Amino acid sequence: SLSDRLESVFKRFKGQGRLTEENIQEGLREVRLALLEADVNFKVVKQFVDRVREKALGQDVQGSLTPGQQVVKVVHDELVELLGGKTSAFDVKGSKPLTVMMVGLQGSGKTTSAGKLALYLRREHKMKPFLVPADVYRPAAIDQLTKLGAQIDVPVYPSSTDMNPVDICRDALQVAKDKGYDLVLFDTAGRLHIDERLMEELANIKAAVSPREILFVADAMTGQDAVNVAQSFDAKLEISGVVLTKMDGDARGGAALSIKSVTGKSVKFVGMGEKLSEMEVFHPDRIASRILGMGDVLTLIEKAQGEFSEDEAQELGKKFQKASFDFEDFRTQMRRLKKLGSLEGLLKLIPGMGKLTKQLGEMSVHEKEMKRVEAIISSMTMEERRKPEVLNVSRRRRIAAGSGTSLEQVNQLVKNFDQMRKMMQQVMGGKAPKGGMPQMP
Ligand code: GDP
Ligand code: MG
Repeated sequence: SLSDRLESVFKRFKGQGRLTEENIQEGLREVRLALLEADVNFKVVKQFVDRVREKALGQDVQGSLTPGQQVVKVVHDELVELLGGKTSAFDVKGSKPLTVMMVGLQGSGKTTSAGKLALYLRREHKMKPFLVPADVYRPAAIDQLTKLGAQIDVPVYPSSTDMNPVDICRDALQVAKDKGYDLVLFDTAGRLHIDERLMEELANIKAAVSPREILFVADAMTGQDAVNVAQSFDAKLEISGVVLTKMDGDARGGAALSIKSVTGKSVKFVGMGEKLSEMEVFHPDRIASRILGMGDVLTLIEKAQGEFSEDEAQELGKKFQKASFDFEDFRTQMRRLKKLGSLEGLLKLIPGMGKLTKQLGEMSVHEKEMKRVEAIISSMTMEERRKPEVLNVSRRRRIAAGSGTSLEQVNQLVKNFDQMRKMMQQVMGGKAPKGGMPQMP
C-alpha cells in the first residue's frame, strides 16, 4: 500500500530532526503515483502534492512518529480536507416530504441507489419512502424499481411507458402528500452519454417538483469520466451531492477526490455492492484511509454496530484483534455477518485484509459456500468448536459425514480458519499497536 511504500522511502531518514525538501521530494513522488493510480485528476494531484510539500516541509520529526508516518499523516489530513472535511449530512430534517431526484448516466446505479436510500432512510430515520420510476423509455426500468420496492416493502408509483416523466413526477409528489409519505425518490432515465434532450427533461422535472436533493450517481469504476459527467450534470441541474457506486470493486476512491475538487459537491453516500443493504454514508476520513491503503476499521465496527449491540461489537473487535476466536465464535458471527453482506466485503475493510482475501480461499465465501461452512461447523461438537486443535482425522471424517461434505472440504475449512486466525493476529494484533501506523484523528 501507499502507506507501506512511504514508510520504506522514509525509513532512512529516521533520526533526522527535521523533514527537508530533499527528504520529502522522494516520498511525494510515491504519493503522486499512488494518487494517479487511484485515478485522481492530474491537476488535482499537482495542487495536492504542492500543498502537502508546503505543509510537511520544516515540520519537526515528532518522537512518536517516523518521518514516513508523519508525511502519511499530512497526506491523510490533506486528503480528508480535499474530500470535504466533515461527513456531509443528508438533510433529513426540514419540511416533508423530503424529495430526492436521482440523476446520472445509464448503468451508474441510480435505480439501485434509490432502493438503497429508501431502505437506509427508513431504517435510520424512520421515514416512509415512496419510489417513483420516471424512466419511461425502457419498460424494464419501471419493472426494476417496482421489483426493488416489493423486495423491501416500499410503495412504488404505478408509472407506465405511455406517461410523460414530468407528469409522473408531479403526480407522484401529490400522491405522496395525500398518502403521508415523507420521502419521495425520483428515479430518472439515464443515457450512455450526456444527451441534451435528456438534460432538458431532467431540468423540467426539477422545475416541476423542486427536489430538495439532486443526487448525481456516479460509477466509481469509470474514474475520470465520472468527473467530466458530474461537471455537465452540475452545470445544467446544480446537483446537491454525489452517490459514488461500485466502491466494492477495485476503484480506490480517486473519483471521489476529483469530483469534490472539480465540482465542489460532496459525496454523500457510497455503494458497496449490489444488495440493497450495501450502501454507506460517505466519510472523507475513511476514503482517505482507503486511498492510502490503510483499510477501514471504523466502517467495519460501525457496520457491526448496526447489526449487533455495542457490547457485542466491542467483543467482536477484540476477538479480531487478539485473533482469539474459535469455530463457535466464528459460527455465531457468521450467522450475523450474513445479514451485513458478504464476508469478503467485510474482510476488505480490515487493514491489510484486502489483498489477503484471495488467500482466504474458501473463507472469503459467498452465500452458498457459507451455508456449507456453517453446516460443517454445526456438525462439530462444542469441544471441537472451542478447540479446533483436537480435530484429528477420525473426527474430521465424522464431521464430513454429518454435514454432507467431504473430508477435503473439512480439512480445507480447518486449514483456512487457522490461516485466517494467524493473519488476523499479524494484521490486527502484531502490526498496529507496535506503532506501525500513525494515529489518525
Ligand atoms: P441505473 O441505470 O443508473 O439505474 O443503474 P442500476 O441501478 O440499474 O445499476 C446498474 C448495475 O450496477 C446493476 O447491475 C446493479 O446491480 C449494479 N450496481 C449498482 N450499484 C452497485 C454497487 O454499489 N456495487 C456493485 N457491485 N454493483 C452495483
Ligand atoms: Mg435505472
